[in-house]
Amino acid sequence: MRIPSAAELLGTWDSASQASGAQRALLLLQMVCPEPVELLAQMPLGWIAAQLLKLRAMLLGPEIVCLANCQQCGTLVESSVLVEQLTALAGNAELEKAGPKLFPLQQGDYCIEFKLPTCADLIALHGNLQSAAQALELSQIQRALHKGKVLEPSHLPADVREALQHAVLEHDPLAHIELSLTCPNCELHWLETLQVIDFVWTEISALAQRLLGEVARLAYAFGWREADILAMSDTRRRRYLELLPS
Ligand SMILES: [Zn+2]
Repeated sequence: MRIPSAAELLGTWDSASQASGAQRALLLLQMVCPEPVELLAQMPLGWIAAQLLKLRAMLLGPEIVCLANCQQCGTLVESSVLVEQLTALAGNAELEKAGPKLFPLQQGDYCIEFKLPTCADLIALHGNLQSAAQALELSQIQRALHKGKVLEPSHLPADVREALQHAVLEHDPLAHIELSLTCPNCELHWLETLQVIDFVWTEISALAQRLLGEVARLAYAFGWREADILAMSDTRRRRYLELLPS
């Protein structure tokens, strides 16, 4: 993975603005990863999350801060975590190049074969992880048997589906990230889900908008072209901005 230029970042931000979450994830990674986009689309979502967090760390620093309101008293609670701590939990690196791979799961009389969810699955469902959770779960199940007989995945009982979710996370831990929060006011403890794609997109959007603002100020003040301003290093751009009256 390499650091994108300011122009690449703004170009990707433009083209991803109207895209779905999964498409945004792919566009961002396509900008910085050497792998072809077809391969990225087939990578497990936890792998995608790990790469997005690494990109975020390169652009904005190693620590991420999550803000959430306490469910009991409403206090705004802040929790911070190092990207490294999260990516250290990522699954086996061998997974990276393996492409779609089938895993077996036996639960009572039920036997299923499943694959890990990918961006391609999300795009095919025209949805994001929250709204398409059930459809995504069904798309993961490649084969379901009950006492040796083929069964429609939608007829699997709740405990088998629950076991499937646990099995997915064992193979791809970053597919679902939870941060532990404690309210300083009422001491409530809870786990907050970190929606990595949305989180990274929001932060990169803020960065892109800041860049646009810098370009606008410098273009207005000095009459320079956007391409020339974006080609400057961050430090150089900052120096020129410091020369302007605030
Ligand atoms: Zn509280």
